[in-house]
Amino acid sequence: MENRRAIDYGTAMNHPQPLTMPIPGHIDPVPVPRDLKPRVDGRIDLLGLSRDDLRMALETAQLEPRQAKLRAKQLWHWIYNRGATDFAVMTDIAKDMRVWLEQRFAVSRPSVVEAQVSTDGTRKWLLRSDANDGQGSQDYEMVFIPDADRGTLCVSSQVGCTLNCRFCYTGTMRLVRNLTPGEIVGQVMLARDALGEWPSQPEGRMLTNIVMMGMGEPLYNFDNVRDALKLVMDGDGLALSKRRITLSTSGVVPMMARAGEEIGVNLAVSLHAVTKAVRDEIVPLNRKYGLEELLQACADYPGANNARRITFEYVMLKDKNDSDDDARELVRLIKKYKLPAKVNLIPFNPWPGSDYQCSDRDRIARFSDIVFKGGISAPVRTPRGRDIMAACGQLKSASEKKSRAELDRLAAEKQAALG
Ligand code: SAH
Ligand code: SF4
Repeated sequence: MENRRAIDYGTAMNHPQPLTMPIPGHIDPVPVPRDLKPRVDGRIDLLGLSRDDLRMALETAQLEPRQAKLRAKQLWHWIYNRGATDFAVMTDIAKDMRVWLEQRFAVSRPSVVEAQVSTDGTRKWLLRSDANDGQGSQDYEMVFIPDADRGTLCVSSQVGCTLNCRFCYTGTMRLVRNLTPGEIVGQVMLARDALGEWPSQPEGRMLTNIVMMGMGEPLYNFDNVRDALKLVMDGDGLALSKRRITLSTSGVVPMMARAGEEIGVNLAVSLHAVTKAVRDEIVPLNRKYGLEELLQACADYPGANNARRITFEYVMLKDKNDSDDDARELVRLIKKYKLPAKVNLIPFNPWPGSDYQCSDRDRIARFSDIVFKGGISAPVRTPRGRDIMAACGQLKSASEKKSRAELDRLAAEKQAALG
């Protein structure tokens, strides 16, 4: 062993700049194939694969490289533009090739454990994927909110959330798992199935907007969220414009610039408080990345301008963050950092065991008025789907009830893990 090390060392010394030497900022031009695990039935799931991943999956199955390139192009179109889940419908591929594909591959969807419709038309789906079959607590949710002029799909990025915002039900889930690109884009594709919106068409869609505001912190699952949104935005695929996609973060400062550069969608920031003391309490991530740092990252966010403003989400909690002074401080901070911003006031949505109350209607109106008079638009968001627990911050797949003591213990554990 000693000998071998000595030889390696010698080799390195002879070639002070070996080709494999990492260069700071260097990006490997050769795509690294994703580690594809077969499904329970032994087939590889193609859902969530990029063009390159698809080609490599075919090459790994011993298809000759030129064939693989051509077939990948066809498959990609069928999967993301036409919404096909069955190789038999892919009529521009020869029949024996379709059979070959069918034996080795599948194009799945998350399976629907439960679907609910609210009295206001909001729909919520409880989902499960093949990879975590049989583990009920690992289910995740998506919500569709139809409006007169748009239809918004609220997409989850994780099962649960490692953060523990005091007012958010998802934060009380103990188990956390990152969703895969297939599970993230799969939510959009499943919604398209349900709405009958294949193939992708530019006009007359019901599903017009996407918000990464379901379960989880999208910037803690950056790569998978980015890869999934790239599929959603691809003009030959799902073809949703980046202007119609919004990513919401609780303030993961180090990832914000990358989100702007590599994804480029609209940014929403869960601000919720304007003083260190209150934000530390209700959004514990603030103890790691403070208000000033967060607002500076917003000022630096690539692509933000007056036509594409950053949304500040502000949950209205009675006697906690809803005073006139809070409203004035909010205006001052936005102006100090010269942010092209709008504020979304969200009435607090209660959940079993939550220890806050929603601010009164008059208080919310007054708060909105002060911000508005400060020159910043501050509409109050109408809660949707409250009756089926589909509103902001109410998503949590397993409806086990926890005592206050358990919730506090969990919050302390998650805070300790945050460092
Ligand atoms: N993790 C991301 C995105 C998901 S939450 C984030 O925190 O931004 C989407 C929005 O709903 C966030 O602004 C979140 O703070 C807010 N929210 C969470 N719980 C809520 C509740 N009980 N009532 C109202 N809004 C809530
Ligand atoms: Fe996580 Fe967002 Fe809920 Fe905070 S508000 S616990 S970051 S999902």
